[in-house]
Amino acid sequence: MNVILLGPPGAGKGTQAKRLTARYGIPQLSTGDILRKAVADGTPLGKKAKALMDAGKLVPDEIVNAIIEEALASPRAAKGFLLDGFPRTVPQATALDEMLQRRGKRIDHVIVLEVPTEVLVERLSGRATCPRCQTSYGKDSPPKRPGICDNDGEKLVVRPDDMPDRVRQRMLEYESKTALLTGYYKARGVVRPVNGVGTVDEVEKRVVQALQ
Ligand code: AMP
Repeated sequence: MNVILLGPPGAGKGTQAKRLTARYGIPQLSTGDILRKAVADGTPLGKKAKALMDAGKLVPDEIVNAIIEEALASPRAAKGFLLDGFPRTVPQATALDEMLQRRGKRIDHVIVLEVPTEVLVERLSGRATCPRCQTSYGKDSPPKRPGICDNDGEKLVVRPDDMPDRVRQRMLEYESKTALLTGYYKARGVVRPVNGVGTVDEVEKRVVQALQ
């Protein structure tokens, strides 16, 4: 099963992606996670992307396209994958189509997590993330010990792009570029809108239903 998870910042893509990869045994291919790791490791890719990411702006298409090309070539993506945070622009979606066509694959479902803007802003303002495993915690899903990741004991941090002015920038990027993708995929009958308001379990149930 080849799935794209779409939704504005704070819609719960990363959280749902982790649930779905565990449930279906397919890898989460997250350009955001890969880029954050490159920034933390100080690689040339990370150095190129850091300023744009911190500002809440999109990094150039050719950079993320290359990341996904490499991820799709990996054996772990052979039996299916979950794209989280990619594509984010129509040119990225076109590039993805070409990559998949070359491999004789196609997208089966595009899950669109729908969450009203007020809820997104509220969620992101209280969000803390594990720098190691990228799990996010918020007011509705706090860690067991305050400030500490449940999975690996790492100290949680607020992502620079979760600061209020950067959040606004990311919302603008989503509305002006990424929201167009729903139209792009609609004609193929693969778009599955899902109400993203509720607990993680409730939303997961709806996503699983949408994938059937
Ligand atoms: P995310 O964790 O998906 O919200 O991504 C964090 C940041 O990484 C974004 O705000 C962008 O700066 C960058 N990024 C991640 N994926 C993409 C993409 N597909 N296209 C452009 N920039 C991206």
